[in-house]
Amino acid sequence: NIFKKIRGIVEESVTGVHRLYQLSKAGKLCVPAMNVNDSVTKQKFDNLYCCRESILDGLKRTTDVMFGGKQVVVCGYGEVGKGCCAALKALGAIVYVTEIDPICALQACMDGFRVVKLSEVIRQVDVVITCTGNKNVVTREHLDRMKNSCIVCNMGHSNTEIDVTSLRTPELTWERVRSQVDHVIWPDGKRVVLLAEGRLLNLSCSTVPTFVLSITATTQALALIELYNAPEGRYKQDVYLLPKKMALPLGCLMVNQRY
Ligand code: NAD
Repeated sequence: NIFKKIRGIVEESVTGVHRLYQLSKAGKLCVPAMNVNDSVTKQKFDNLYCCRESILDGLKRTTDVMFGGKQVVVCGYGEVGKGCCAALKALGAIVYVTEIDPICALQACMDGFRVVKLSEVIRQVDVVITCTGNKNVVTREHLDRMKNSCIVCNMGHSNTEIDVTSLRTPELTWERVRSQVDHVIWPDGKRVVLLAEGRLLNLSCSTVPTFVLSITATTQALALIELYNAPEGRYKQDVYLLPKKMALPLGCLMVNQRY
């Protein structure tokens, strides 16, 4: 009954949007819905610019690592990966990228990063960062081959990108060295530094700029306004992307703030 009163739904989470598409496909969506997750302002701010800032904050707070000269591999060169790579490169880290999409791989190459297979560089890197949205990108085999003190963290999806479950075996010892930082110790004494137990590093260990939160909240509000003001029949019982023109007010706001 409540759905009879609702003019539309706006949804920002990846999982929520996925569910809306499932409902739409099954013909069970009762009202129009806006996919805010894939709108330009949400993607650019939440994924690219936010991660560009918070990756360094998260790593610094947990490990006090100095980035200059460190070898880092970033798995995935989408929005999140691009942000992480840009920030690390700016601080003098040597950044490798792994990609499965040829266009994103080409972009990484054109941006000056070496595109590699994870197995090629896993023995030599100081930091491994996952940003793929995929599962088991860093496997137990990779973890076994990492060098002593290698830092491993996830900026992508949930806690499934690094196979943390495979590390919970009797032959490995876990030592909590500070909040959100575990040393996983191999029988030969090798330690891998696992951050936030493989959950999102920035959401667990760093601050997220309030500006980003306000941009994404505003994007949701604009989506609601669009659904509310749309003439009858423009939006059916389906999932829509926020029209690009709705990003304009946000752009103007930022230009005004800056100048
Ligand atoms: P995206 O789709 O733009 O990029 C993901 C990239 O990873 C793609 O280019 C894809 O080809 C690549 N990829 C997939 N599997 C791979 C693999 N096995 N090895 C190497 N590359 C692989 O997505 P995005 O916007 O960059 O988001 C990535 C993930 O980060 C999503 O799960 C998203 O929900 C999450 N995310 C995190 C934050 C955060 O604050 N940490 C913010 C936004 C999104």
